[in-house]
Amino acid sequence: MDTPDSREGWAALAAGLDIRNRAFIDGAYVDAADGRVFDCHNPATGERITQVAECDATEVDLAARAARRAFEDRRWAGLPPRQRKAVLLELASLVEAHRAELAVLESIDMGKPVADAAAVDIPLVVRTIAWYAEAIDKLYGETAPTGDHVLATITREPIGVVAAVVPWNFPLMMAAWKVGPALAVGNSVILKPAEQSPLSALRFAELAAAAGLPDGVLNVVPGHGPTAGRALGLHMDVDALAFTGSAAVGKLFLQYSAESNMKHIALECGGKSPNIVLADAGDLDEAASAAANAIFFNQGEVCMSGSRLIVEAPVREALIERIVAHARQRQPGDPLDPATRLGAMVDEAQMDRVLGFIESGQSEGARVRIGGRRALADSGGYFIEPTVFDDVDSAMTIAQEEIFGPVLSVITVEGFRDAVRVANDTPYGLAAAVWTRDISKALEASRMLRAGTVWVNCYDDDDITVPFGGYKQSGIGRDKSLHALEKYTQMKTTWIRF
Ligand code: NAD
Repeated sequence: MDTPDSREGWAALAAGLDIRNRAFIDGAYVDAADGRVFDCHNPATGERITQVAECDATEVDLAARAARRAFEDRRWAGLPPRQRKAVLLELASLVEAHRAELAVLESIDMGKPVADAAAVDIPLVVRTIAWYAEAIDKLYGETAPTGDHVLATITREPIGVVAAVVPWNFPLMMAAWKVGPALAVGNSVILKPAEQSPLSALRFAELAAAAGLPDGVLNVVPGHGPTAGRALGLHMDVDALAFTGSAAVGKLFLQYSAESNMKHIALECGGKSPNIVLADAGDLDEAASAAANAIFFNQGEVCMSGSRLIVEAPVREALIERIVAHARQRQPGDPLDPATRLGAMVDEAQMDRVLGFIESGQSEGARVRIGGRRALADSGGYFIEPTVFDDVDSAMTIAQEEIFGPVLSVITVEGFRDAVRVANDTPYGLAAAVWTRDISKALEASRMLRAGTVWVNCYDDDDITVPFGGYKQSGIGRDKSLHALEKYTQMKTTWIRF
């Protein structure tokens, strides 16, 4: 399908969609028991798009049974890796073929600019699925150095039934980071999309079936966190659960595991990532452009957004002026307009939450340099102006808590040590960046910053080949790269005497 190049083209595509709104269990779309549904809204207009099957413990149990059956009879796990690879490569090419449709689904479901969904989200889904497909027939086991008359092999086996509970900010991409590696190694999967953004996952399940994925191997259960999500966490026959979302809910999954079957839990949680610009950063235009993108891309609804700009006093004013200029250029607009670079917040609750943080910043003494208000209210949608706070102190709420919106906090520091100290001064440790021309400072910062990813003279560089995950309360385990396979497999040792 061609990608439209105008607002009218995208709107026509959105209007003509045949939206899948039922759960996908054991290879078929099904209603929830008693026909329960929940409303799915377009955050750019406030209008209802459809009603989606509302799964809870009943449907989660059906999905878990289907997934277990599929795993036990080895219809997927038992295939030679090259056959699983062929199916997953076909799935990747079907996603690519439906790029425009999936991109517009993401846009109307969670408010992101459709141009970003088409250029970033969906291509990355394709690459993720294809990369794990390609990896899977190139992994080998080990033989231990045990001596004569005995052979000890160490093999990795799929873990069984894997649940994936994902957020709404990159709905299909977050799903692909989990579903891709989990399926590649032979697991059965139950995917629970966020209640704000279930539509692309439901369509994806159908594409997976069309690619040749056997029934029951991928199930999608849309529903709310405290019901469907909790039921997955507590289910006695789910072997592993991979979660992306807030730290508060991540902690709940550790509890669910302890209260049920000690299922393996992997957590990708939030962040409050520092972007340090030292006085010797060099090209401030580049640093400012990266800093603006780091906080305004995807409306700031990005776990690794550079939400704290930590800047040395001599370059502070020059940097802020440049970032403010970027913010002025990047005003919110209709997500279906290909020129729009800042879309709508995912829902009214998230908009109100972000506006609440903006209020707290003002009442705690920070200074708004640009933005700070709701925008385009006449549209019925939930838009917020790109916002820059100056004079922020590290103890303020806006410097400590994850806002998950287009709100930048600028903290001025005196020197390198102070910058690193402030950078490490939150409960999070997902990512960090430092801008300097001094190689020693760059290396020292990379050592001292407590974060799973450190960027030097860039922000947001990213590839499926590198692991991604957090220190401290940003999570446990890693997504992406071959390291992700560690959480979807378990290690078996076999001793053979001869
Ligand atoms: P959230 O934690 O509210 O929800 C995430 C998922 O958990 C959703 O599917 C939701 O239905 C489910 N959930 C919610 N409450 C639950 C409960 N009581 N029991 C079980 N499941 C429950 O997060 P969100 O608001 O959807 O997403 C934003 C958060 O995700 C931010 O904190 C962001 O930083 C984080 N995030 C992290 C990464 C990463 O890779 N580290 C990536 C994207 C988003």
